[in-house]
Amino acid sequence: MKPATLLLRWYRVHGRDLPWRKTQDPYRILVSEIMLQQTQVDRVRVYYKSWLKQFPSWKKLSLATNAEVITAWAGLGYNRRALMLRDVARTVNLNGLPQTEDEWLTIKGIGPYTASAISAFAQRKRTLPIDTNIRRVLGRYLLGIHFPQLADDEKIHGCTEEFLPRRGAYWDVPQAIFDLATSICTKSPDCARCPLKNECFASKNFLEKTVTIPKRSTKKPKERQYRNKPYPDRIYRGRILKTVRERVTIRSNQLGPLIDPMFDQHLDQEWIDDMVSRLIKDKLLKQHRKRLSL
Ligand code: SF4
Repeated sequence: MKPATLLLRWYRVHGRDLPWRKTQDPYRILVSEIMLQQTQVDRVRVYYKSWLKQFPSWKKLSLATNAEVITAWAGLGYNRRALMLRDVARTVNLNGLPQTEDEWLTIKGIGPYTASAISAFAQRKRTLPIDTNIRRVLGRYLLGIHFPQLADDEKIHGCTEEFLPRRGAYWDVPQAIFDLATSICTKSPDCARCPLKNECFASKNFLEKTVTIPKRSTKKPKERQYRNKPYPDRIYRGRILKTVRERVTIRSNQLGPLIDPMFDQHLDQEWIDDMVSRLIKDKLLKQHRKRLSL
């Protein structure tokens, strides 16, 4: 039996029931894909529902202000994603819906993974969006690489054509791989339970326990972090936005103690000012007469 057939059979029984898998609406699929970038599925489930209630269509979202989208996104983190999503909605509203992966790629903010995901799930094209999950499963299954890295994507891409079935629900194959990657083909895989184990190039070594599981299987991108602060700037930037959202407007020199209990005016004000200017540059904050607002 072909690997995709085995996988789809397994998926029918063990696949997750997720709301964005029940639609072919490109808008809803894009919302889920953007939310799922760096946010856990359970958290996305909640936000996905409320977001669609507030912004049910490209049109509605395209009319939203920065403050509205940032407020609706609050709690998901990486707020630039919210503005980017709104800007994509504006482009689609203006120019119409892209019909191919290449057309999606011409929209600012849409990268190869997202273009491929919308094409696969909304437009049912035979394409495999390669993210960390698909990279891990296919890198192991097709190439026998125990811990595939970004640099292996080209080799994986070269093999996807034969992996995707020509008929049947080939658009479900990526979803099935996501679920296999999060439940069985994890960092330390449970190959004995895997529907692909008989043909997998990596299963023998994993089953014989001859593979050393590294502490980190992929390199974590280095985040900007200030002096002796315990968290990366990303966390404090989120706190700044939360504070501005709650207070509606605030002076930047009042922010310090509100976002960091160890704040030292003398040592840390420059750091806060730098984060504020980056938030303004990213259009996440506005400044008028030294007062900040969304
Ligand atoms: S057999 Fe093991 S390594 Fe291969 S795809 Fe399945 S879980 Fe992953």
